[in-house]
Amino acid sequence: MADAERPRSSSRREAIPGYGLLIEDDGDYVKKKMSQSTGEEILTELICQLGFDDILCEVPTTTDVTTVMMPYASSLFSRRIPADRPQGAPRPSREFAFLGQFTDLPEDVVFAVEYSVHGAMYAVYRLFGVDREIRRSTTGSSTQRSALLRSSKVA
Ligand SMILES: Cc1cc2nc3c(=O)[nH]c(=O)nc-3n(C[C@H](O)[C@H](O)[C@H](O)COP(=O)(O)OP(=O)(O)OC[C@H]3O[C@@H](n4cnc5c(N)ncnc54)[C@H](O)[C@@H]3O)c2cc1C
Repeated sequence: MADAERPRSSSRREAIPGYGLLIEDDGDYVKKKMSQSTGEEILTELICQLGFDDILCEVPTTTDVTTVMMPYASSLFSRRIPADRPQGAPRPSREFAFLGQFTDLPEDVVFAVEYSVHGAMYAVYRLFGVDREIRRSTTGSSTQRSALLRSSKVA
C-alpha cells in the first residue's frame, strides 16, 4: 500500500525500537530468517508471537517497520577476561584515562549510556583526587548467586 493511502491518526504516532538476537533462525509463523525478512514479515511474526492474531490484518496497514543490521551492537557482551579491557584510569598513570563501553569498571554493567558516564566520572575523580562515590542503579551480580540461579532458570 502506498504511504499516502495508509490510514493515520493525525496527532498520535508512536515509535518502538526492537532488537532481534536470533536473526539466523526461521520464525515460528513466517518461515524465513529474520535477517532475510522484510519489516512487514518481522511485524507479522511479532504479532503472532504475542498472540494478537485478531489484529494481524489491521496493524501492518498502520505501521512502518524499518530494519537495520547492527552487527556490533551486542559486541559489548562478548565473553572476556579482566585483562582484555583496560582499566578506566589505570594506575600508576596520572595523566590519561580510557573512556567508553570497552573499558573495565568493576561491578558495573555495560551497554547503557550510564556505563560510559560512570567511566568518565571514575576517571575524573581518580585523576583529580575527588573523593566522591559513584552511585550505581545497577550493579554486577558476581556475588549474587541467587540472581544468577534465577536467570539460568528463565533462560
Ligand atoms: C540499538 C541501541 C539501542 C540503545 N538503547 C539504549 C537505551 O535505551 N538506553 C541507554 O542508556 N543506552 C542505550 N544504548 C547504548 C548507548 O547508545 C551507549 O551506551 C552509548 O551511546 C555509549 O556512549 P559513548 O559516548 O561511550 O560511545 P558512543 O555513543 O559510541 O560515541 C563514540 C563516538 O566516538 C566516535 N568515534 C569512534 N572512533 C573515532 C575516531 N577514531 N575518531 C573520532 N571519533 C571516533 C563515534 O563516531 C561516536 O560518535 C543503545 C545502543 C544501541 C546500539
